[in-house]
Formats: sequence, C-alpha cells, structure tokens
Amino acid sequence: MARGMVIIGAGECGGRAALALRDLGYDGPVTLVGDEPHLPYERPPLSKEAMASDAPEIKAIASHAVLAERSIRHIHSVQAAAIDRAAHTVRLSNGSVLPYDKLLLATGSTPRKLPMPGPGARCVYLRTFTDALAIRGHLGTGSRIAVIGGGFIGLELAAAARKLGAAVTVIEAQPRILMRGVPAEIAAIIHQAHVAEGVEILCGDGIASIADDGKEARVTLVGGREVPADLAIIGIGAVPVTGLAAEAGLTIDNGIAVDAELRSSDPDIFAAGDCCSFPLAVYGGRRVRLEAWRNAQEQGALAAKNMLGAGEAHAAVPWFWSDQYGLTLQIAGLSDEGSSTVRRDLGDGALILFHLDEDGRLVAASGIGPDNAVARDIRLAEMLIGKRARPAPEALGSQAVKLKSLLAA
Ligand code: FAD
Ligand code: NAP
Repeated sequence: MARGMVIIGAGECGGRAALALRDLGYDGPVTLVGDEPHLPYERPPLSKEAMASDAPEIKAIASHAVLAERSIRHIHSVQAAAIDRAAHTVRLSNGSVLPYDKLLLATGSTPRKLPMPGPGARCVYLRTFTDALAIRGHLGTGSRIAVIGGGFIGLELAAAARKLGAAVTVIEAQPRILMRGVPAEIAAIIHQAHVAEGVEILCGDGIASIADDGKEARVTLVGGREVPADLAIIGIGAVPVTGLAAEAGLTIDNGIAVDAELRSSDPDIFAAGDCCSFPLAVYGGRRVRLEAWRNAQEQGALAAKNMLGAGEAHAAVPWFWSDQYGLTLQIAGLSDEGSSTVRRDLGDGALILFHLDEDGRLVAASGIGPDNAVARDIRLAEMLIGKRARPAPEALGSQAVKLKSLLAA
C-alpha cells in the first residue's frame, strides 16, 4: 500500500500542491501539515484588502469542504519537527509520525528580524493572518505608524494606513525605497505617490534602537531623530525557512537547494515556493530564490507533477505585482539581468521600462500605472522574455508598434 505524499507547510505553495496532486489523478494518501491554525490562505491580501476592512477575513485557498471532498488530510497547528530520510518518515511536534513515499517542503519564508529585542505589543512584523489582525487594530484616524523598511510590505501598509487616516513615517536605510528589484525611475513614481498622500519618507538612515513600553514605540534613528509611534511595523525582508531541511542534511544554498525539477539533494524530497533556490532556465540556470505569489503557485503545481514522476523542468518567467493607492506595479523577469532600458509610455501616466541585456535580448519589463493599465503589455513582455526575443529597441519604445506584433515576429 502507498505510504503517500506528505507536504510540510500549508501555505500558498503547499495548498496548491495538495490540490494539484488530486487534479493529476493521484489517489493515494495526501497529507498537508501546517503550523498555523487556519486553512491554507492567500497572503497578498494581508497588506491590502485586510487592512481596508473593519473585519478582515481569511481568503482561503481551499475550504474545509474542498479538502474533505478531495481526501486531503490537513493537520493544522502542528509543526514538522524532524525528517528521518532513511525510514521515509516525518515526526510532528505532537509526537505522531507520518510515513511518505515523496515529501514536499513548502515551508515558506519568515520576516527578517532587526538585531534588537521584539516583537512586542507596539513593535510588530507582518507574515500571518494573526499578525494582520493585530496591525489592523491599531490603524485609524490619528494613529501614528512608523514603518521600518521601504520595501513591499512597508509601502503597501503605509498606503493602507494613510487611507484610514493614520500619520505614517517610512524609514528606509538605503538611499531610496525599493532599492532591489525595482528600477529607480519607477520607485520615484511610487515615492511621489506616497508623499502626495501625506506619508513622510526618510531614506538613508538606519535604526539605532526601538523602545516599546507596551503603550508606545519610540524609534531612534542612527542620525539622532526620534519617531514616536502607536505602532512600529518592521518590513525589512524575509528569510527562507530551512531549519527542518538543514537538520535532515539536505543541501542549503540561499534556501533549500533544488534542481530544475524542484528535487532536493534527496531524490524523494522536493522543495518549492519561498523556501527554495532553483536554477532559472530563462537566465541560463542562474540560481535564484523567489518570494512571489505566482511562483509559489506554479512551483506547487510543478512539484506535484514531479512527485508523480513527470520529470518536467521549471520554465516560467518570474512575475509579481504590488498595489499601492490606485497604482499597480508589475514586473516580469529580473531587471538586474539588463544593462540598458527602453521606455514606452502607455498614456494616463502608465509606463513600461524594458530591460535589455548586452546582446539586445529582452530580459525583464517593469511597468507602473493606474489600476490594470500595464497588465496586458507586461503579459506580452513576459512571453517575449520567455521566447528569449531580441526586439528592436525602437519598436519597444514606440506606442505605435503593438507588442503582439513583436511576439509574432
Ligand atoms: P508561505 O505562504 O509562507 O507558507 C509556508 C507555510 O509553512 C507557513 O504557513 C508556515 O508557517 C508553514 N511552516 C513552516 N515551517 C513549518 C513546519 N516545520 N511545520 C509546519 N508548517 C511549517 N507576492 C506577490 O507576488 N504579490 C503580492 O502582492 C504579495 N503580497 C504579499 C503580502 C504579504 C503581507 C506577504 C507576507 C507576502 C506577500 N507576497 C506577495 C508573497 C507571497 O505571499 C509569498 O511568496 C507566498 O505566500 C509564498 O508561498 P509559500 O507557500 O512558499 O510560503
Ligand atoms: P523587501 O521587499 O525585501 O523589502 C525590505 C526593505 O527593507 C528593503 O528595502 C530593505 O533594504 C529594507 N531594509 C533592510 N534592512 C533594513 C534596516 N535595518 N533598516 C531599514 N530598512 C531595512 O521585503 P518586505 O517588504 O519586508 O516583504 C517581506 C516579504 O513579503 C517578502 O517575501 C516580499 O516578497 C513579500 N511581500 C511581497 C509583496 C509584493 O510582492 N507586492 C507585498 C508584501 C510583501 P535592502 O534592499 O537594502 O535590504
């Protein structure tokens, strides 16, 4: 009898992988183990819709009914504590032991911590629905919010807090916000949008200390300035959750190292989503780790296929988005692969920067504009990147030339 498939981590990737195993016709046991008390759920709304609502609700990836109907056993509020690779078993924190034929590690990432005490009542991080509820409770007219880190979490929360009437200060150690992964021209548009909405942005200054007496957080910057706040929210990046894999002796390299089929250094253990680093075919096998919603979905589905023996290599182009006020940012590909950019204006303030490498190959496209203004063209750019196309820069820059025609060429 089959020992079955075990998935550790009931997040975006783990949840999608469990469903995909059933979609692919696997009829053996599927067990999904998660240490959160909830159904598998979407994280992107935590810094967006959940902050806009008076009573935030979880956006579940699969309901209890769907999990039951598909015979997916979801063990929640329990951690996977150890893997016995020789015995093909996982020991859980409640003492039970699960046998597996194939194991998927979808343990995600966790907020990078500032090297100082916390979190506390007035100094918090955002990763889970529980974190989101705590933060939402502090946002409102007149509340003072200090956001540490001008990355995606910080800026999305800053926008949400302003909409609710809070006074917001964003503190970023780098000379500008969104330093990694977002081109300066586009980061400047986002910066301006925040300033126009009344957010104070302080760049180029680090955190000296944060005092949290339970009633107030007092953030002191290296430059000497003090920022008193009802809540300090820290968003300074995320680190992959690799402890379980490392203790089992799997290779770790900026995450759990997997091959193009998402197989770890143990052929019966796969890893996918935020927790793994993998060779990205579209850039000649450059090893990357992606922290993005669509990647977690795609890799969950691909891992499921390969756990069933498909032997399919990862071939997707990275893509992610961010919503702040009425602006949507979308980036396809990795812009640091480019050495020059071509700008295309789409009207209504929307624009796309195309990133070309030294051989003229399109390697990434970064777009920003109101609502969904850039979505269609970024989708076409993604297809061009996937095809390793070398479109003429003049054509990319001209609104008169349809991107679809470049795809046909
Ligand atoms: P996770 O969703 O982190 O799930 C991993 C799960 O595994 C967690 O529940 C964790 O607690 C659990 N776990 C870990 N170790 C164990 C263990 N030993 N035993 C049991 N369970 C364990 N991406 C975008 O592209 N666009 C966005 O707009 C966007 N917004 C975001 C907003 C927020 C607030 C956050 C936090 C993330 C956002 N992301 C966004 C990123 C996206 O949500 C992640 O890339 C995605 O959730 C990764 O999925 P994952 O399954 O790999 O990891
Ligand atoms: P992030 O986007 O990596 O941004 C972290 C920011 O904080 C960076 O600008 C970083 O600068 C800065 N920083 C680092 N150390 C600092 C310090 N000591 N003091 C002040 N600033 C510091 O990460 P995040 O915003 O924290 O997001 C965490 C996770 O949630 C990531 O996985 C992210 O992908 C995900 N998320 C994604 C979205 C989205 O895609 N729309 C939205 C929300 C959350 P450096 O570049 O110098 O490190």
